Amino acid sequence: MDLGVKGLLELGDNVFLLRGSPSTLIYNGDMLYIIDPGHGGKRAKQIKRVIERLGKPTMIIVTHYHSDHLEAIPKITAGISVEARVAASRLDKPGVEHPEYRIGMTFGYPLEGAEDLLLFKAPAVRVDAVLEELSLEVETVPLPGHTPGQVGVIAGNVIYAADAIFGERVLENYVFPYHRDPCRALESLKKLGGLIGDGRVLVPGHGPVVSGSSAEELVNLNIKHIEEFLDRVAELAGEGSEFPEILRGLLGSATVQSPGHMMLLEQSLRGALACLARRGVVGVEVDGGSMEWRALNK
Ligand SMILES: [Zn+2]
Repeated sequence: MDLGVKGLLELGDNVFLLRGSPSTLIYNGDMLYIIDPGHGGKRAKQIKRVIERLGKPTMIIVTHYHSDHLEAIPKITAGISVEARVAASRLDKPGVEHPEYRIGMTFGYPLEGAEDLLLFKAPAVRVDAVLEELSLEVETVPLPGHTPGQVGVIAGNVIYAADAIFGERVLENYVFPYHRDPCRALESLKKLGGLIGDGRVLVPGHGPVVSGSSAEELVNLNIKHIEEFLDRVAELAGEGSEFPEILRGLLGSATVQSPGHMMLLEQSLRGALACLARRGVVGVEVDGGSMEWRALNK
């Protein structure tokens, strides 16, 4: 079926992909489903064209509250002649609706008014429905870790895994992947490994579409990256280290492009320390004005 947009990749029956970073998944069922509209004026125009051409009630699903996945929404819904509702998970809804929470949860600081430091900023987006309360033609699966309420979406033979998994290039270009809770991200990756059986096509938010053995390899590569990251953090905590020392050790000679990137790396490291503490691998002590992390001998 012609949806009126060039370059759409047909992944299965009524399932289409607008490639980008992030990619947008489109499912043309009784209703039209748009998963992660992404950002930018061009993307917004393309999606608006699809919605208006099909003229069906539309559900826009936001997989998690990060700005790059949802910035296009107000541009899509402005002045549209078709009913278009927005849905997000219960846990990530506040971050979608309130930029202050979103920025605070993503970067670790509320930082309103310091947008030049942030990598990406999107306006408030009203959420009309909570995913957990809906019955839809697509299935949503909790894949927490990158954010607390992130979901993946299964449409036909395709699973859109959002930022639960990254393409190989993304993994190579970042010092370590952004996950607020790397341990939960590992559990979600293992769950994803089970979901890609049955010949499902796997779509990462950022990275190329994979299937079969390539999908399995990508899941395993992401698991390996997180496990190595956690091992290195525990090793750097060693006999006792403060947060900045561990961060410097992790970065080594890597170049960090901007304060925004550095803030994201800091959050991943905090997430790693929290999850290693939960596992009993590291402990923490406050001594006067310093807080020291230490690997625990078990
Ligand atoms: Zn994200």
